[in-house]
Amino acid sequence: MTITNLTISSCHTDFASGARRPSDVAQEMISVIQQKDEQLGAFLSIDEKDIMRQASEADERYANGTQRSPLDGIPIGLKDNFLHKGQPCRAGSKILDGFVSPYDGGAVRKLKEAGAILTGRMNCDEFAMGSSNENAAYRPCVNPINAEYVPGGSSGGSAAGVAAGMVLGSLGTDTGGSIRLPASFCGLVGLKPTYGRVSRFGVVAFASSLDQVGPFAKTVDDCRLLYNHLQGFDARDTTSRNIDEPVTFSEKETGLKGVRVGVPKSFVEHDGLDDEVRATLMYSLDVLKSLGATIVDVDLPHLKYAVATYYIIATAEAASNLARYDGIRYGQRLGETDGLEGLYRQTRGQLFGDEVKRRILLGNYVLSAGYFDAYYRKAQKVRRLLAHDYAKAFEECDVIFGPTSPTPPFKLGEKAADPLAMYLSDIYTVTVNLAGNCALSLNAGFSKDGLPIGMQLIGGLYQESTILNVAHRFEGAGLGRQQQIKS
Ligand code: GLN
Repeated sequence: MTITNLTISSCHTDFASGARRPSDVAQEMISVIQQKDEQLGAFLSIDEKDIMRQASEADERYANGTQRSPLDGIPIGLKDNFLHKGQPCRAGSKILDGFVSPYDGGAVRKLKEAGAILTGRMNCDEFAMGSSNENAAYRPCVNPINAEYVPGGSSGGSAAGVAAGMVLGSLGTDTGGSIRLPASFCGLVGLKPTYGRVSRFGVVAFASSLDQVGPFAKTVDDCRLLYNHLQGFDARDTTSRNIDEPVTFSEKETGLKGVRVGVPKSFVEHDGLDDEVRATLMYSLDVLKSLGATIVDVDLPHLKYAVATYYIIATAEAASNLARYDGIRYGQRLGETDGLEGLYRQTRGQLFGDEVKRRILLGNYVLSAGYFDAYYRKAQKVRRLLAHDYAKAFEECDVIFGPTSPTPPFKLGEKAADPLAMYLSDIYTVTVNLAGNCALSLNAGFSKDGLPIGMQLIGGLYQESTILNVAHRFEGAGLGRQQQIKS
């Protein structure tokens, strides 16, 4: 098996049998990054010396049989908004240039405990705001399948790097689809766990009532392995839920008999749903049926308000979270000789990108006296209605199935000048963050231009085991990424 086709589980098997060593794999992955990343743009930085130091420690553990987990020695990338002690953390923004993480965040600690090799900082939209990675402040990132197309955002680098074989898995954050959308556009599996399932301690905050950490991987099984090591309590995140529930795959070969798969009417009837995505959805439903699942009609009647609701709540929280970047406490400082107000004005005016400024303006507007009731309070009420829609739908079904994105991957520049068109890419993903549920995206086919089309499996609160198990069966039925690539 070539290095770019390795999965986490096959690599671990090779390490355990002695067929490969972590330092060989790390070295080969560094060469792939050196060869391909100038064009791809998945990484913002790597620290070769530190990678090789971690790898030789893993070599030793395998040599004396003290390996810590299936992730031991596995190269994993981190989105640029995770704090990793001693490494730069800029959240893809110029305003954090020069900032070095003083400690490890919760998810990073768990990966370290498992023995994973943390390879570097992965490109993303500035402060995780975007759906295409085109709001990246340092360098563009393109789709590894076709460089004219976007990789999806905001965790575009995390997805592109796994798809291009530069790392075997990666971490992203999903506030309104930022794991699932790039997973869909790059042909990967990406999981947004339930709010509270994975620690956000040491993750740069965007919209705190929506943010969640999750993995990218090539297969559902790899995604499960990563998830199992990420989930669980962390006292340093006050929203962390005190439960520890690793997922196992059911051994029974019963297909999906007895599983009720809900398809929301409003998903299918949405005007913006592209024909190729619709066709992939219909085909996928046939696959689910052939596995024995029962397809049931459900509805999310408030879907049409989801994008507006999300962009009110997310911008309000972002405006408040980003107030801390004032040029005094973190990163870069401009206008030092212009008095305090001049310093704030120049630092924030010149170092935040356009999309970030748009969000701060929108967020402060919806929170301001006089508009608060009309926008922010109203949005909170609609959020509750959406959560209720899901709770009701889950009385009728075990999982919900639908597209991840209304369109296949689009070309660079196609939506960059039209924020509203970009925001509409998030219609199917943001509802999940607003309700707090879990969901994963996995590949279900390719567009006529050869770009991946992903489908989403949405579960109720704390139903990761259900969606991962259904996804595993679906992938095994021949629609998975591995099969598609062969055909
Ligand atoms: N596209 C959404 C936004 O720009 C989602 C971002 C995210 O999940 N981090 O807000």
